[in-house]
Amino acid sequence: MNISIIGIGLIGGSLAITLKENGFAQRIIGVDVSRENLDKAIRRRLIDEDMSLEDAVAASDIIVLSTPVDVMLELLPKLLDLVDRQVIMDVGSTKSNLLQAVSDHPKRGRLVATHPMAGTEYSGPEAAIPGLFDGKCTVLVDAEKSDIDALERVQELYLSIPMKMVRLDSHSHDVHTAYVSHISHISSFALALTVLAKEKDEDRIFELASGGFSSTVRLAKSSPDMWAPIFRQNRDNLLDVLDEHINQLARFRSLLIKKDFATFYELMKEANQIKKIIK
Ligand code: NAP
Repeated sequence: MNISIIGIGLIGGSLAITLKENGFAQRIIGVDVSRENLDKAIRRRLIDEDMSLEDAVAASDIIVLSTPVDVMLELLPKLLDLVDRQVIMDVGSTKSNLLQAVSDHPKRGRLVATHPMAGTEYSGPEAAIPGLFDGKCTVLVDAEKSDIDALERVQELYLSIPMKMVRLDSHSHDVHTAYVSHISHISSFALALTVLAKEKDEDRIFELASGGFSSTVRLAKSSPDMWAPIFRQNRDNLLDVLDEHINQLARFRSLLIKKDFATFYELMKEANQIKKIIK
């Protein structure tokens, strides 16, 4: 199978490593705006060669779209214009805007919309790692809108990793990812800003940062180029969950002011219930 990866960063590059290693892909072609990224991807053997978008589409069986989600809005209609027998698979973190934008395209069936639920706080081809997706879950979004052969091919790709698959409609996908992924990034960005505003001594942060601080602030290292378009596209769902988060913070603040530590304790016990869901 010849596979093109458009946007050879963390997700595209990690997929390239996995699909080459497990034999699903015979040849990986890279397409990227950045010459530097393509050179790095060739040096790291993430891709076999690079091509223009048009040549890559013509030479491929599957085209993986793994740019930031705002760029996907521009590229996806062009890709659908170019394909014929090929399958396009996107890996974007938001779906409603993207799928709405191509809903009337005559070749909409060649697209399979997916969201592999795996990542790190790093970006670019140097961030690509083997094993990123192993055993994780991927979401197939509005799968009934894809041609059957296209859907089957993408399912084979994810099974080769292997990844579990769940199906969601685009609205539900965006609501649930706002809850389990997007809010934790905003919360981490806000925590980093809080500590940077209060603690002016950078050496102190470095010396005193324990495992707890490092793990809660880890996501604040993530790329704004990747996350700003996600927040823009999922704004309404984010506002809803952010309001709830601010209410919860205000609740803790009010209990501290009132010195009501018994209720504070009960709230923390209630929060511990998350252990039953995530080990
Ligand atoms: P990334 O590491 O920044 O990779 C994106 C790549 O796309 C970069 O190499 C970027 O080049 C390139 N690019 C930008 N504009 C382009 C264009 N017009 N044509 C071709 N290439 C272009 O980001 P990522 O974390 O892999 O994310 C990629 C996609 O996966 C996003 O849609 C994201 O929502 C989704 N996703 C991310 C995660 C995660 O945790 N990171 C998880 C699941 C899904 P430059 O660096 O030069 O801009």
